[in-house]
Amino acid sequence: MTKKKRETSEHDTEPIIFCDFDGTITQLDVTDQILSELAHPSWREIEREWMLGLIGSRECLERQIALVNAPAEELHGAIDAVPIDPHFAAFCKFARRKHWPVYVVSDGFDYAIHRVLKGAGVEKYFRSDSTLFASALRVDGRKLTLSFPHSPQPCAHGCATCKAALINRLREGRRPVVFVGDGMSDRFAVEVADVVFAKRQLLAHCRANGIACHPFETFKDVQNGLEKLLAPLPVRRLRQAAVALS
Ligand SMILES: [Mg+2]
Ligand SMILES: [Zn+2]
Repeated sequence: MTKKKRETSEHDTEPIIFCDFDGTITQLDVTDQILSELAHPSWREIEREWMLGLIGSRECLERQIALVNAPAEELHGAIDAVPIDPHFAAFCKFARRKHWPVYVVSDGFDYAIHRVLKGAGVEKYFRSDSTLFASALRVDGRKLTLSFPHSPQPCAHGCATCKAALINRLREGRRPVVFVGDGMSDRFAVEVADVVFAKRQLLAHCRANGIACHPFETFKDVQNGLEKLLAPLPVRRLRQAAVALS
């Protein structure tokens, strides 16, 4: 896809950062952990349909969550066993110091995300509904129900929470958009981002599709990469650097 050329301005090097949650901020995919521990095994067949592009993530998650039947304690146990990136807290502090906004955009469950962030002591950065966008999970006894408050109208991709649409809605003027992600639920987001940090399946997807990206393992790598990339460079050089470093 062609990206519009934009003029430089004094704000051009102040980025806006969007992070996937599952497998990016956490070291494991919380949604997959919940499903593998608490759902009927047929959730994997639905996952396969999604991976093949036969269904969108909205339909995928709706059908999968209907297969979960477990008390809240078991749900909490599955969530609490998922480790967070040990450098994420320092990254949040770093971004706050720089006055760079950090948004979490996730197809996963807000309930699980809030619990993980709270456990890691970083929920203070994402307290408001305007910094965290995910599918809304309601826990009612053994029953879980899902809704999609941030994308009430389904997008063309069939996303649960459309990351590309959120980025386009939240991006500010000419500020470069940085996206950090790990999986196939990020494939539409990387098409609208200016700078991409990718690992695992997303890295393979970017490489297979000629999308410039920086491989990363932890948020320490993201922080170091941003410090290097966003040293006072005009945006045109920033984009050239992004391509050259990938
Ligand atoms: Mg992910
Ligand atoms: Zn979408």
